[in-house]
Amino acid sequence: MPHVLLVEDETSIADTLVYALKTEHFEVTHCTTAGDALHVLAERSVDFAILDVGLPDMSGFDLCMEIRKLSAVPVLFLTARDSEIDRILGLELGGDDYVTKPFSPREVVARVRAILRRAATSISKIPEENTCLTPSSGKLVHDPESMTILCHGGLLNLTAHEYKLLAALMSQPGRIFTREQLLEKAWDDPGSAMDRTVDAHVKSLRAKLRELTPGGDDPIETRRGLGYTLSPDAI
Ligand code: CA
Repeated sequence: MPHVLLVEDETSIADTLVYALKTEHFEVTHCTTAGDALHVLAERSVDFAILDVGLPDMSGFDLCMEIRKLSAVPVLFLTARDSEIDRILGLELGGDDYVTKPFSPREVVARVRAILRRAATSISKIPEENTCLTPSSGKLVHDPESMTILCHGGLLNLTAHEYKLLAALMSQPGRIFTREQLLEKAWDDPGSAMDRTVDAHVKSLRAKLRELTPGGDDPIETRRGLGYTLSPDAI
């Protein structure tokens, strides 16, 4: 059972995360201060650390630097402000990812899983290298195993058809897919659906992408009379 260290001083946020993680079979140790977290790390091994950036005794960034002296454990930051994200992305801190408050506990659990999976892969591929990870850099990141797609770091909450549509578009950015081709890829029984079914699902997919995209743009382009394509910049 992976052991997650959660350092968060807001009890209401911590409680929902502890509950969500335990439900998904993680062992959780919750601390409200960086000092307590460092005590835990001195005593026990942890597989993952979730750090609030705004802690009472030390910033989550400073805590991360302290943790890095001891361990290469994956770190996910919880941030309340956009201004903090630049520092995380600078990644001199060796953090692996971040989520912005307010977040859904399920999203956090999905991210923990994805990062642990990535960490396991990179460790098995290059055991001699240090295991600090770079964060996903693409605006859209597809994890076929968990059938999830992240958009600018946020988990897209997609229906099965939306997921398959976006996965198809992401498989070949810049390629124009006709509606018929998208029906083939995203519907088990394409004969029963119609072209405008694709349009309706692309529309709802775009709304979800825009919600998670700074500036509110979406990377799907309509080619009139032809079909849809995903901007290569999105990957
Ligand atoms: Ca806080």
